[in-house]
Amino acid sequence: MSSGVDEFDIIRTYFAPLEGPDPRSRGIVTAIGDDAAVLELEPGRQLVVSVDTLVSGVHFPPDLDPTDIGWRSLAVNASDLAAMGADPHWFTLALTLPENDAAWLAAFAAGLADSARYHDLCLVGGDTTRGPLTISIQVGGSVASGEALTRSGARVGDLVFVSGTLGDAAGGLQLLQGATSTDFTAEHEELVARFRRPRGRTELGAVLRGIATAAIDVSDGLLADLGHIARQSGVGAQIGVAGVPLSAALRASFPADVALELAVCGGDDYELCFTVPEAQASAAVARAAGVNCPVTCIGRIESAPGVRCMDEAGRVVGYARQGYRHFGESGL
Ligand code: ADP
Ligand code: MG
Repeated sequence: MSSGVDEFDIIRTYFAPLEGPDPRSRGIVTAIGDDAAVLELEPGRQLVVSVDTLVSGVHFPPDLDPTDIGWRSLAVNASDLAAMGADPHWFTLALTLPENDAAWLAAFAAGLADSARYHDLCLVGGDTTRGPLTISIQVGGSVASGEALTRSGARVGDLVFVSGTLGDAAGGLQLLQGATSTDFTAEHEELVARFRRPRGRTELGAVLRGIATAAIDVSDGLLADLGHIARQSGVGAQIGVAGVPLSAALRASFPADVALELAVCGGDDYELCFTVPEAQASAAVARAAGVNCPVTCIGRIESAPGVRCMDEAGRVVGYARQGYRHFGESGL
């Protein structure tokens, strides 16, 4: 790295503070500074790991605020832990940087630190190299053995739920790409914030253990992601589009049909979609309320494969896009 600063200075300055306080209480025996991290796991628990790589110009626009890049890179990984019902513990960061830009690094580390606090994750190691901007984060969490939520457990008759509201992040991205930010209303800003700062639903995932039969996080879009549950469970699903939860901000910012299509096909909300046996539905709603997370029943698991969208009159509604590949479509 240039200006007499090497990667060890970068690690010490920006990333060592993300180890967080009292690492021993979290089972962190050795973290940043040794050849590898040593992490304690209680007997009877299983490790849940996931890794996601974000490449500048592919997964986010190069000019996205580095604070948001920091927040987002960890949030999308935390969301995978949420979908598995895992308690979040640690993460590692493999960072490839084109240059040693102190302002960029400080902003990136600040966003990452906020996201780490919000998602209750501690940094335990990583790698720092020079090259095109790429952020690869691996997260680790745990569940009591056998309790992880998967995509493959949905059964015919189960109810389909989603958390929060859908379509906001896709609406926010559309507004950003329209690039008329000078006229953004408060509602527009709300949607853009959901794209920039997704929040992994880790608390909801944890309370769904033992109740949900299947779960997934909505990253590619409801139809695409519920489609994964259906396929991997060997079932199908029907959803009532009128019941899909839309935020007031989304309704205020787009015509009704566009808002609904964003909610059904748009990605990046990082809400959870999960299935629950009907007898457990009220327990699921109560547990979600206990962690301040609204959840809405939007449909039911059926035996016929595929995901069908119905309107209030019982007619099938077709959507051209089965999954919203945000940066893929924009050709960044
Ligand atoms: P090694 O050569 O033994 O792989 P490195 O020189 O890559 O070690 O890293 C030194 C220490 O700093 C290691 O403990 C590593 O986990 C940590 N580290 C390197 N880069 C990062 C980073 N971006 N964030 C957090 N820790 C890092
Ligand atoms: Mg070494």
